[in-house]
Formats: sequence, C-alpha cells, structure tokens
Amino acid sequence: MSRSALRRVVAVASIASGCVSAADDAKSQQPSWPIHSLERPKPRVVDPGPYTAPVPPPSDATVLFDGTTLDRWVADDSTGGPARWRIVSGAMEVLPGSGPIATRQGFGDVQVHFEWMSPNPARGTGQDRGNSGVFLMGRYEVQILDSWRNDTYADGQAAALYGQFPPLVNASRPPGQWQSYDIVFRRPRFDARGQLTHPARVTVIHNGVLVQDAVTLTGPTGHHERPPYLAHPDALPIGLQDHGHPVRFRNFWVRSLEGTP
Ligand code: MG
Repeated sequence: MSRSALRRVVAVASIASGCVSAADDAKSQQPSWPIHSLERPKPRVVDPGPYTAPVPPPSDATVLFDGTTLDRWVADDSTGGPARWRIVSGAMEVLPGSGPIATRQGFGDVQVHFEWMSPNPARGTGQDRGNSGVFLMGRYEVQILDSWRNDTYADGQAAALYGQFPPLVNASRPPGQWQSYDIVFRRPRFDARGQLTHPARVTVIHNGVLVQDAVTLTGPTGHHERPPYLAHPDALPIGLQDHGHPVRFRNFWVRSLEGTP
C-alpha cells in the first residue's frame, strides 16, 4: 500500500474510532524497511543537468550566509561561541574536527535554500565521502553526501531524510560541482501537555528535482534509531553537520513560513 493510501486508511480509522492520536499516526508512517537496510531499493539516478547560476535570495528572505561572514552562525556546542568553519572562495567550508554549527536565530515552519559542494577529488566510500547534513530545528536531518557513483544504504544517501526515507530519485551532481537544496519544512505541533498533534513534514528539491514530497517524519532522525517525537519549542536553530569532510556551502537563505496555512 502506498504511503498516501495508508494515510487515508489511518485517517478513516481515526474518525471511526476517535482515538488514534497524532503520535499513532506518525508511527503508522514508519518505513516498512529496517533502518539503514542495504536491501532497500536504491533510488534511480536522474541527471539534473548542469548547474547554471545561484538562485538569488528574494526580498523577504533572511540571508544566513552571503559569502563574506559567519556572523549568523555559532558553534553548535555548549559554548555557543563563534562558528569555526572556514570561508573559502565565497563559500563556508566544514573545518573537519571543529564541530557542527547552527544559526543564531531559530526557525519553525521555513523555506530553506542553499548550495553545497562535495570535496573534489572524492575520498572515501559510502558514508565516509562528502558527508554533512542540514538539521532542521537541530533534530531533523536532510542528508548531505557525495552520492555520485557512491553506494550506501538508501536512507542515508544525499537528500534522504536520514534513517527514514530515501529520496525519490538520485539527482546528484559529481563532486566539485555546486548542487542546490530547496526545502519546505513544516514543524511538528504539540499540545499544552507536550503531546504530538501534527508530525513534521518535509519537501525537498535537489538540483531542481523533487526528491521528498511532503513526507511525514516519524520523529527526529538518528543513526541506527528512529526516536519518537519529544515536545520542543516552536523555533529552533538550523544546524549543519561536521562529519569530518570539507563540504562547502553558499548562498544560504531562508523564508519564514510561520503563520501561513
Ligand atoms: Mg550526515
């Protein structure tokens, strides 16, 4: 049964019984595959065509990196001190071992655009090649990986919702070329008692190609775990992962979608 069909069945069952909670609904969306299964089918490869030009930030965007300063980012650790990544050729580059970084500002419902580049020449294989990730609300990872002719488990390749859902297709460009992510994120909702009322949903467009279509997250993403939702604030920083590889980022901007239907 498709996910949307399953969702409809759950919705009908919910109305009929009046007792299916949002947490139950999120659980019902659990992928049928074990986490990081190597048997899970690999998304087919789609050539997205050559990279052309950066998508400029629209007038209502908050620019988080314009090529010149890391002022809008901090070290994502207990110090919250200055971000220690490098700026190279107008891009911010992971300084391996310096740790993850996060935005100073918090965001909830949000549209995110940025461009990223895997290190060239490529080194390593599988998860050990051009690995980073963007963590919405610091909890929900859209994977960044050099997935150009690089095999790994399907729920861990580029544009996967890590450990949960592979992308619809593999629209990766080779290392050394700019790639784009456009993400629409709808945060989870919790009631006053901290119970989940609406799970988070994520849409991702990779290099202009739809790869995640309003997918319902089962909870925070994790390595070898799919933890349940835990109530959290409505706005939290966006994180970027230091996985030990000098991945580059540029033209990073967001538009708040809070208050939109
Ligand atoms: Mg990662």
